[in-house]
Amino acid sequence: MLTCRKIAALLLMVISPLAAGNAAATKPGNQSLHSWSVRWQPKRVVNGSPVMLEVSSPQRLESLSGKWLEHDVFFFFDPPSKTWRGIAGVSLETNPGKYVLTLDGKTKSGNEISFQESIPVGKAKYRQIAVTVPKQYTEPSPEQLHEIEQDKTLKQRVLAHVSPERDWSGKFLPPVNAPISDVFGTARVFNGNVQSVHQGLDFGVPAGTPVAALNSGTVLLAQTLFFEGNCVVLDHGQGLLTIYMHLSKIEVKEGEVVKRGQQIALSGGTGRASGPHLHVAVRWQGIYLDPAILLSLRMP
Ligand SMILES: [Zn+2]
Repeated sequence: MLTCRKIAALLLMVISPLAAGNAAATKPGNQSLHSWSVRWQPKRVVNGSPVMLEVSSPQRLESLSGKWLEHDVFFFFDPPSKTWRGIAGVSLETNPGKYVLTLDGKTKSGNEISFQESIPVGKAKYRQIAVTVPKQYTEPSPEQLHEIEQDKTLKQRVLAHVSPERDWSGKFLPPVNAPISDVFGTARVFNGNVQSVHQGLDFGVPAGTPVAALNSGTVLLAQTLFFEGNCVVLDHGQGLLTIYMHLSKIEVKEGEVVKRGQQIALSGGTGRASGPHLHVAVRWQGIYLDPAILLSLRMP
């Protein structure tokens, strides 16, 4: 247990907040002093990474949109740095390689300008562990299978939600002040048979610990599910959701607007949990991303 925590702490330290990749280019024949520049965090992007993109354009733009790994990237303008920023992500299933980001901007005079930039994606190293949970979670009864099926339909609807408007602002905050007990991406063998990949971050906290929203947003779901237990899903806009599981008490209602750092629940051990802890997941346009990297991103 202690070793896992040490590994998690080391991983967080490795993801240096100062690390950032970048590339700049001028189109052939373009005599302008200004050119496109695309920077990203973290410096080394891997499968499972959220990616913070920072773009400056040769001309002042009215709007900027992007496309990467078959997802739309929503950008907002940050006046102090005169750059456009947007959050994107790489699914766990994405193979290593270079993936072209396409940028389309519209100038104040209505001209359309575009740019392409290759962003390299590396392969993350994820661990494998064995987990023991009550039998019902690996061998559910017919009634429980029905409940699981109903949850699946609900989750598909809720988790597919994308609102382009940005509700989040500023750095993403940890939900609790506690050590990480399991990192994102660990391959898990439940009771020796059922396999799954850990698609979130676990914090080792006793039941009843106040849980804070990672950032501002709207409550998309606040209810009890079979595997997740008492569960809250927040929509931060731009396709970004955060999910809080195994709670002992939910303190927000669906549709409620919450602020960054606001208490939304108390932690617990409800649903498929080997004991009390907080599981936090980050979902971006249908894919799970590593919350630890999101928490390490520098923000304007
Ligand atoms: Zn977990």
